[in-house]
Amino acid sequence: MIDRGYYGGFGGAFLPEILVTTFDELVDYFNDVKNDPVFWREYEEVMSSYSCRPTPITYAENLTNHFNGPKIYIKREDLNHTGAHKANNVMGQGLLVKRMKKSRVIAETGAGQHGVATATMAAKFGFDCTIYMGEVDVERQRPNVFWMEQLGAEVIPVKEGTRILKDAINEAFRDWVTNMDTTHYVLGTACGPHPFPEMVSYFQSIIGKEAREQILKTEGKLPKRIYACVGGGSNAMGIFSGFFNDRDVELVGVEAGGKGLDSKMHAVRLSSEDASVGVAQGYKTFFLQNKDGQMRETHSVAAGLDYVGVSPILSDLKEKGRVRFEAATDREVIEALSLTIKKEGVIPALESSHAFARAFKEAPQMSKQDMILINQSGRGDKDIFTIADAVSDPKWKEFITKKAEKYNA
Ligand SMILES: *Cc1c(COP(=O)(O)O)cnc(C)c1O
Repeated sequence: MIDRGYYGGFGGAFLPEILVTTFDELVDYFNDVKNDPVFWREYEEVMSSYSCRPTPITYAENLTNHFNGPKIYIKREDLNHTGAHKANNVMGQGLLVKRMKKSRVIAETGAGQHGVATATMAAKFGFDCTIYMGEVDVERQRPNVFWMEQLGAEVIPVKEGTRILKDAINEAFRDWVTNMDTTHYVLGTACGPHPFPEMVSYFQSIIGKEAREQILKTEGKLPKRIYACVGGGSNAMGIFSGFFNDRDVELVGVEAGGKGLDSKMHAVRLSSEDASVGVAQGYKTFFLQNKDGQMRETHSVAAGLDYVGVSPILSDLKEKGRVRFEAATDREVIEALSLTIKKEGVIPALESSHAFARAFKEAPQMSKQDMILINQSGRGDKDIFTIADAVSDPKWKEFITKKAEKYNA
């Protein structure tokens, strides 16, 4: 009997009949590798030679002085290959695909970051690669589409429905049903049907394992609070899981408050009452949906946090009171980002900046004896178009206008 992956009342695997065998096979393979120390060593080896692991923790001395509060440390997932924690998941699944002797990977992507990470993994391991992306997202994310294609992936713009992420997910499942024998679906976050929430969290757990060791070695004690942003929940699960058993460490997940709760333009699923429990995309969790169960539109300045569902494991941890959830608005996020760049010379991704924003809000009320850890899930260089707009840099606008004129001439 295969465990169907429930976390309290959340999770499960709501699958079309035709996919059940494929999922059973995946669960079997995953259970094998989970109990195989050789697999984890191979994983760590690949991550160290290809993706700069272990990523360091950085003491943010200037930010610490600025707030005159707790010592602030940053876990540097931005230093991974392709610039974010997503590498941990795709490389892990890539090694699993090798074990399963499959030759092709598919993935869905919204903002394009997961598509780039998957295409990179496919290039490295020699797999064929198809990426499904809503047509609207293809238009919005040209630089990522450019890289996916350069990496040898086929990018298929999805013209169904509202032509965004959820439509891409549907198409990816449709492809999988047709090509199960050769193909593995590399899901991008700790969501979806079992075993994906557990499997993605397992590969991301390398963040928390390292961070716990590093902070103990550096400070001789554990942090009082740990902050991570929450899109689907994979970077948060990754860092939090290292500390689940340390009851004195408070875990804080930060969602996209967008333009504020009242505006309805946000992606707040766990830190307010706006979302409700439902089943969609093959699993049960909190979704932003209307009374008829139709998925609502979401908004965030950070494309990677803009998702209607959330990891069923995090929904359960919320109910159990083990993780506290908060939201940061677009405006707070841009402010925190600018401050971090100027004070520390590191550029967090807009997604990661949500964790920074909440930490900065709480730091002034904390004691100088305390210490906190922020997970910098990715680097912000990729966000240059959005950030330059948000800070209204006039020289950037001039640059873009001149470029456009040159193309049109
Ligand atoms: C994709 C992404 C996220 C959101 O995904 P999670 O699964 O919630 O971690 C966060 N930060 C960065 C930099 C990302 O690229």
